[in-house]
Amino acid sequence: MTRTHFVGGNWKMNTNHTSAAKLAGDLVGELHDQAEGVEIAVFPPFPYLITVGQKLLGSGLDHIKLGAQDVSQHPDGAFTGEVSAAMLLDCGVKVVLVGHSERRHVIGETDAVVNAKLKAALAAGLDVILCVGETLEQREAGQTDRVNKTQITAGLKGVSAAQMPRVTIAYEPVWAIGTGKTATPEDAQNAHKAIRDLLAELYSGHIAEATRIQYGGSMKPGNAAELVAQPDIDGGLIGGASLKPEDFARIVQAAAASPGTA
Ligand code: PEP
Repeated sequence: MTRTHFVGGNWKMNTNHTSAAKLAGDLVGELHDQAEGVEIAVFPPFPYLITVGQKLLGSGLDHIKLGAQDVSQHPDGAFTGEVSAAMLLDCGVKVVLVGHSERRHVIGETDAVVNAKLKAALAAGLDVILCVGETLEQREAGQTDRVNKTQITAGLKGVSAAQMPRVTIAYEPVWAIGTGKTATPEDAQNAHKAIRDLLAELYSGHIAEATRIQYGGSMKPGNAAELVAQPDIDGGLIGGASLKPEDFARIVQAAAASPGTA
């Protein structure tokens, strides 16, 4: 089975209207003649979704999808400040992040909230990237696989096998996000393999083999190739480097050069 590599660019709470439009335009320019065979998504801040979406549509590059960094667990109503899955779809969004470590550890989202958001997104027709990963303290206590297991089991509660083709897992060790520290390819591969084994337990061997598992945590042009060359690493979720079009394009190139798993 071949898994198409998937590279996402999470812009977080960066850019303004002008610079988001420029970043999208520059990215499209960088990616125009390359990245065949890699799926790409960019995750701008909510207010710039439509502008960035227009740039992507205008580029004719349909393997670059518009993504959102978060989604409400509620369909509509009195939830001040929330953005629903239907609103995101209306803006051209195809895929959303849920459970990013900044939402878990800075905003305080629980596994139950992450699960509710994931199910709301899937029910509305959006694809989902479920982000999981351990803190430094948990890693040092040897709890990496246990934390991933807890977050994935709770995050996917009530998700059917038929919905799983629309789910990607992003393994993002919290201590590696935005810190310049990266998991070694071996450590990342071990964590990804344990996640794939867990998916086989929760669903089936077929679903485990078909599900993409991205690595996230200071992935950069200099380390992307050796990370995506690992058999269970199917691309990356990129924060800082996604704000630099050339760097992001070089990471996409590394994913394109690394064969999918046969
Ligand atoms: C992220 O925010 O998902 C991320 C991986 O950030 P960075 O690449 O900056 O570590």
